[in-house]
Amino acid sequence: MTIATSTKSQLNWLHITFFAGLHIGILFALFPSNFSWKAIGVFLFLYWVTGGLGITLGFHRLITHRSFQTPKWLEYFLAFCGTLSCQGGPIDWVGMHRIHHLHSDQELDPHDSNKGFWWSHMAWMFYHSPAFADVPRFTKDIGDDPFYQFCKRI
Ligand SMILES: [Zn+2]
Repeated sequence: MTIATSTKSQLNWLHITFFAGLHIGILFALFPSNFSWKAIGVFLFLYWVTGGLGITLGFHRLITHRSFQTPKWLEYFLAFCGTLSCQGGPIDWVGMHRIHHLHSDQELDPHDSNKGFWWSHMAWMFYHSPAFADVPRFTKDIGDDPFYQFCKRI
């Protein structure tokens, strides 16, 4: 087993700052002077594109688990939609999710639900996870793909 284990995780200030800034910015959209039903419609559409098509269908079911097959152009389109969701590129996402499934709800699971609801849903992202070091080992099928490398850089 090569997944590094550490009981002392360091805070990931880049992620914390990004998410704090994002949520503060979102609060401005709720001011009455900024509110718009059209903007709510755009939000719901983009949420479906990035979260539904990109993460759930693309990153998760298609690329991570290979639950179905598509032409490569459609796989790349779905992966690009997922990349727009601010959850990183497909290589890291897929690698961490495969590590999660391999060690589901055990010590080496990056988002072990035994550590609580908030940890498993979002708090794990606020720390540097030692599991990231093993992502290349879990993404040999996509790690060298130039499009996925591009998605990792944007
Ligand atoms: Zn899964």
